[in-house]
Amino acid sequence: MVTVIKAERRSSVLTPSNLACLSRMPTINLTAGCALGCVYCYTLGYTSYPGEDKIIVYVNTLEKLRDELARKQTRPRAVYFSPSCDLFQPVPEVLRLGYQVLEFLLSEGIGVAFLTKGRIPDNTMNLLWKHAGMVRAQVGITTLDEEMAGLFEPSAERPSVRLEQIARLIAGGIATEARLDPVLPGLTDSHESLGRLFSALAGVGVSRAAASVLFLRPRIQESLKQNIRDEAVLQELLSFYHDARRLAIRAEHSFITTLPLAARTEIYKRIGLMAQQHSIVLSVCACKNPDLARGTCNIAGGWPRRSRRGRQLALFGEGR
Ligand code: SF4
Repeated sequence: MVTVIKAERRSSVLTPSNLACLSRMPTINLTAGCALGCVYCYTLGYTSYPGEDKIIVYVNTLEKLRDELARKQTRPRAVYFSPSCDLFQPVPEVLRLGYQVLEFLLSEGIGVAFLTKGRIPDNTMNLLWKHAGMVRAQVGITTLDEEMAGLFEPSAERPSVRLEQIARLIAGGIATEARLDPVLPGLTDSHESLGRLFSALAGVGVSRAAASVLFLRPRIQESLKQNIRDEAVLQELLSFYHDARRLAIRAEHSFITTLPLAARTEIYKRIGLMAQQHSIVLSVCACKNPDLARGTCNIAGGWPRRSRRGRQLALFGEGR
């Protein structure tokens, strides 16, 4: 049971992300903390993290957003949801606020991009369909094994529901990709597991996917030890990190503990081959794998840049 705390947001609604691939697009978090409670969540160590089973909903988000946009000379082309929480958490206040914010942005001609493991309510799905050309979606899914997904993502939707959701998004004309993040070494990267997943993804019309292998930080490791009650599963996973390396990632002054380069390369190669067999183009998250990937994993989808007076405008930063 999640405790929902309502609070007024004092800082800006539109905020830049630390991640290099989102550096040109403003982002919005409707909450601090996330009711989906994934045990590997990278926000666990953030100072804004309110604690387990607790979220803070910023109830004045819409008013502040209206005000911020009214003061901008150049509006963003699109906004990303969310670097630190899921837009579709199973909490009525969050879903209501999410609908209002999406409706406002889309009515103002501002596109929206999101990554979710939650369930998109029907009214929001209708809204997204209505503005399909202005929406980019990524659905997080790493395995079809419901038990495994339940262990690591206890309050996220079941993989079968996420697949259905991908199918509905694509059927409504929305550019939708799958995100295998985090791939759990030894647990979700077997030939059989990947084969089932990619076959299902291809079956619902996915043509692009992105992947990134689990990384650790002290708070994430603590969470895994506290929450993964199946000792065999936990030990199998952690055994891959015995010779883990510290790596500077493409997020301001940020370090992670991750598998050695050779081990990650081998995993991405296998995932890439499986994706290829199902005619799916795979990108590796370059922000979290700067030692082996370049460019972007398309986390916010592709957005053509606007051009005015012969110069290219950035998606974020001008007229702020
Ligand atoms: S959905 Fe994302 S932000 Fe929410 S708990 Fe899971 S990993 Fe964290």
